[in-house]
Amino acid sequence: MLRLLVISVLWADSPDNVWPISDVVARFQTVAAWYAEASYGRLTLVPTVAPFVRATTTSANANADTLLHISSDLGGPLKASGFDTTKFDRIIYIVPRIASVGPKGFTFGSSMVLNCGGSDYVTFGAIHELGHSLGLAHAQSLRVGGRNGKVMTFPGLDITQLGGNVIGFRLDPADPTNAMSYAQVRAHFGAYDKSQLGWIAPAIVDGKDQTYELTPLARRGGALYGIKVPMKQFRATSNRVYWIELRDGFGFDGNLAPQNRGFIVSVANDFLCVPTCAIDAHPETQELGDSAFQAGDTFKDGTVRFDFVDATHIRVRLDPGASAPTSTPRP
Ligand SMILES: [Zn+2]
Repeated sequence: MLRLLVISVLWADSPDNVWPISDVVARFQTVAAWYAEASYGRLTLVPTVAPFVRATTTSANANADTLLHISSDLGGPLKASGFDTTKFDRIIYIVPRIASVGPKGFTFGSSMVLNCGGSDYVTFGAIHELGHSLGLAHAQSLRVGGRNGKVMTFPGLDITQLGGNVIGFRLDPADPTNAMSYAQVRAHFGAYDKSQLGWIAPAIVDGKDQTYELTPLARRGGALYGIKVPMKQFRATSNRVYWIELRDGFGFDGNLAPQNRGFIVSVANDFLCVPTCAIDAHPETQELGDSAFQAGDTFKDGTVRFDFVDATHIRVRLDPGASAPTSTPRP
């Protein structure tokens, strides 16, 4: 159980009731429902929504430093209204937006500030910042490799960085399938993140030809949600790791765009993807709205090959084909 205190802050000169507290209550019911679904019931978020608390700083004087020290500014008034902040695991301060502070949300330790009070961003921002407070990093995307019909060829293990003879983009942090990106999609976290949080345990590929059945990440009670493919077993010098997950339109994943539903392949510890980047399944288009692999597609890198057999099955085996065509011989 995670006890969360949600405090709506007024600046010294703000008008009263700049947003309805009932609206904050409703938003944090959604946030708690999101965590219950995403964690398969492993994380119970219990929000306590406080009434407005007025800071001593005026809106004109409020800056990033004010937000970092908001707890000391509000200490007196909070105590006076009967809230003991030490009784909570996490605290979120929602403030009327300070335009001079760019980020709409940030996290320091167990405290978070949402610099976007009264806006729709509050719900997404709370899910995202709580993710940081649990230890998660941003979710990035990677557009690299080529596609020929239903076959995507990704750079081989001899290619370890963007630039030089690899043309591609790391989009930072823009994964439209993960609430830990800036894409502002209220979808689930990815399989790597859920594994970090102990919510799922992946199958680990050992190089044998094997077909796996995945349960979509949003559905409770699945036998397998993620496949982890450490490439070190095939080449000792490679730190590359692939993660494979399945997404559909269930629950909060109903927020996913249609072509972001399907199999998501991510890469870790390569191409500056630390911890992970979701690989764009369609590198030939300049958008991420089609980042999922569909039944009938194949992903290969010259060492391993993933065949997406049908809506839920994936065959993983060594790729007998030639190495990826993205490397150019030196003259
Ligand atoms: Zn963030």
